[in-house]
Amino acid sequence: MRDFGGIVERSPARTVRPATAREAAAAVREAAAHGLEAVPRGLGHSTYGQSLTSGVSLDLSGLAGVHEVRPDRAVVGAGTSWRAVLAATLPLGLTPPVLTDHLDVTVGGTISAAGVGGTSHRYGTQADNVLALDVVVDGEPVACSSSVRPDVFDRVRGGLGRHGVITGATLRLVPAPERVLSCTVPCRDAADLLRVQRETRAEHVSGQVKPSETGWAYEAKAVLYGPGEPPPGTTETEELPYADFADRLRPDVAELVALGEWARPHPWGMVLLPGSAAAAVIGATVAEMTPADLGLGVVLVKALRVDRVPMLAAPDDPVLFSVLRTASPGCASVAEMLEANRTLLTRAEAVGGVRYAVDSVPPAG
Ligand SMILES: Cc1cc2nc3c(=O)[nH]c(=O)nc-3n(C[C@H](O)[C@H](O)[C@H](O)COP(=O)(O)OP(=O)(O)OC[C@H]3O[C@@H](n4cnc5c(N)ncnc54)[C@H](O)[C@@H]3O)c2cc1C
Repeated sequence: MRDFGGIVERSPARTVRPATAREAAAAVREAAAHGLEAVPRGLGHSTYGQSLTSGVSLDLSGLAGVHEVRPDRAVVGAGTSWRAVLAATLPLGLTPPVLTDHLDVTVGGTISAAGVGGTSHRYGTQADNVLALDVVVDGEPVACSSSVRPDVFDRVRGGLGRHGVITGATLRLVPAPERVLSCTVPCRDAADLLRVQRETRAEHVSGQVKPSETGWAYEAKAVLYGPGEPPPGTTETEELPYADFADRLRPDVAELVALGEWARPHPWGMVLLPGSAAAAVIGATVAEMTPADLGLGVVLVKALRVDRVPMLAAPDDPVLFSVLRTASPGCASVAEMLEANRTLLTRAEAVGGVRYAVDSVPPAG
């Protein structure tokens, strides 16, 4: 069995697809009785075997579904995709405050990583916006929140499934805009990109570093959810329905699937950098990178807020720097890309940064 990274392969001794929290608890107990680990798996979109095991693979797809939507919250199964959550809330004019760029990942999977989106400078991570969780810990179902069993709540959010299996979640909802205005702002360099991200009042802000004829080009996208002026430096605007904006990656994914690139290995380097050192690390990394080191991938920069996710150990004023490599034909090899990810992590750690743990970095040594 492989994951989206396509680098690590593991054959589980057994795969169990629980349909209830009780069944999930029984599967965890049964695995423990046989001396096996039980590893939860959402849609397997992590990149270095985080959802894989040679023990018991817990397939959470049997715990998918939106059970209740109220004006301020939705109660969902952990195996539900964010696409399905949005499909249930949007007709009521509601949305989770933070959505991942790609909607076909699960609630349990991203809460176990943290879940960063373009609104994370305003709302924090998806894990910051969970009101309550149902979890299996030590083979027993436990309900937790910031006030009930906060120890469990704090261990499983950002815990990569190693401290409990999330079976259900109560997610915060906010009013959804009907239409948004997406503004493109070219930037000089990493420092300028971070300045634009910090200064703009837009609800959704993201940043990319793209190969261009003259080297690497930095670009911010500031997306206004209501009336307002495009930020200074805007060269292009596009107005579109929120639903289309939330699902904006769909055409790109379809193209990558058609090209066969979606199925290639994805050695992804992802680090959370302290704001004070982020521009220097990003600038140095990009300066020594060639398009062949990235393949048909993307480089993303996102200044964010992390409020209450201790497992993430995020540095101050964090910036998520993601070098999302694809081992495309004629490009650097998987081994070379993994080595470059290690160099990035070493560089990040030297300034107090940490990895974003759904990345691809082989253990040191
Ligand atoms: C195209 C693409 C775009 C992405 N965009 C973003 C983005 O915008 N923001 C972002 O933050 N991330 C993004 N990611 C990364 C993604 O958030 C993580 O890979 C996430 O973990 C994927 O969710 P999944 O459901 O596939 O989880 P999996 O990969 O199946 O699992 C991830 C980890 O969580 C654990 N886990 C899964 N389900 C549970 C559960 N119910 N309880 C406890 N632990 C569990 C697994 O054991 C594993 O360690 C993207 C990934 C891809 C491939």
